[in-house]
Amino acid sequence: MQLINIKHPEDRVSFSQAVLQGLGRDQGLYFPESFELLPDVPMLLKEDFVSRSALILHHLIGDEISRSRLEQIVASAFDFPVETPALDHSVRALELFHGPSLAFKDFGARFMAQCLAEFHDGGPMTILTATSGDTGAAVAHAYYQQPGIQVVILYPRGKITPLQEKLFCTLGGNVHTIAVDSDFDACQHLVKQSFEEPELKRELGLNSANSINIARLVAQVCYYFEAAASVSDVRQTVFSVPSGNFGNVTAGLVARAIGLPYKRIIAATNANDTVPRFLDSGEWDPNPTVTTITNAMDVSLPNNFPRVLELGSRHGLPLRSLLSSFSLDDNQTRVAIRELYARGYLADPHTALAWAALDREVKEHEEGVFLCTAHPAKFLEVLEETLDVVVPLPPELEAVRHEKILSSTIASDFDALKQELAALH
Ligand SMILES: *Cc1c(COP(=O)(O)O)cnc(C)c1O
Repeated sequence: MQLINIKHPEDRVSFSQAVLQGLGRDQGLYFPESFELLPDVPMLLKEDFVSRSALILHHLIGDEISRSRLEQIVASAFDFPVETPALDHSVRALELFHGPSLAFKDFGARFMAQCLAEFHDGGPMTILTATSGDTGAAVAHAYYQQPGIQVVILYPRGKITPLQEKLFCTLGGNVHTIAVDSDFDACQHLVKQSFEEPELKRELGLNSANSINIARLVAQVCYYFEAAASVSDVRQTVFSVPSGNFGNVTAGLVARAIGLPYKRIIAATNANDTVPRFLDSGEWDPNPTVTTITNAMDVSLPNNFPRVLELGSRHGLPLRSLLSSFSLDDNQTRVAIRELYARGYLADPHTALAWAALDREVKEHEEGVFLCTAHPAKFLEVLEETLDVVVPLPPELEAVRHEKILSSTIASDFDALKQELAALH
């Protein structure tokens, strides 16, 4: 795979370079220079999820990872099911939350962890990342027990839910969690400061496992094919994706660029509606970020959006007919949670929002698939207050709810973080 830096198209890198570096010069995103069509999509759709995903990723990445090695990587990264239950004759859920952190981010984080381990030159490697909740769990589980890799995750003390904390701060081993006595921005600032110290960076082999890493994106292309394998007519299928940073939508568009012939895709956002307004007016006019009940989508500067535009301009996807975007507010989201529940489906708020956008937009002769990005139990507070039900915990949460939190606590102070990091080696 040959990639370019979108900001400096003359900067070309291989897949392994892009994975190891994360971002290019001037914070430019790496993106494939071109896409080739898959030779036989109908054949591919007959394969099982893991074999098919290995074929798709081999098609995208090329020979930098051998076919047989890639099959092993995919089998261990995607070692949990993807379910596609039908809601009725024309609408399906694409359930992406059956992994260890109960959110779709497991696909990208686990595949990226395997790729880093593969490309890692044997020196020290430390994944240092800040989380406001969900990403931390996906990253922690993805690198847990990976030989030679240490993981350090900073989070704002008392500002993530107790169950979120249990999900990744009870692992131990190579996963080190640090509760910072401040907010998420302070955590992010501490991570940035660490990356600005060349000596620290070299000694620990720091890598951020950032969400814009190309490895995370290509992994997410695979499950669009799983949905396509379950519908009766791909060509009439409309996807609806709950969107924040627009990585998931980008992956869906990449699936189209390599030949998955679905009809169109909806990016459903919450009140943070920079993209829907941009598609309406042509003006990029972000407002300050607002807090909603779909907090994983509280993003007003979606960092993957330049890749979406690139898919239109460089790769020729007909974005005008292919991509639409709608914003739904918290009230509409709660109505959607209730309506889905009345139809027998308990959905987390992000998922319900995507379903509501689909329900509004899908036409008579079309089929709809909405992406289910988190397990309902991850957002049980919102569901219990909206539905007046008790949400049962899945085994992953039941298993850790009484475990001891292993985090250390520090003030929002770089020297304190350095002391913690020094203890790693
Ligand atoms: C991260 C996340 C999203 C948003 O996905 P993007 O790829 O950033 O658009 C949606 N729902 C949930 C539950 C998430 O964790």
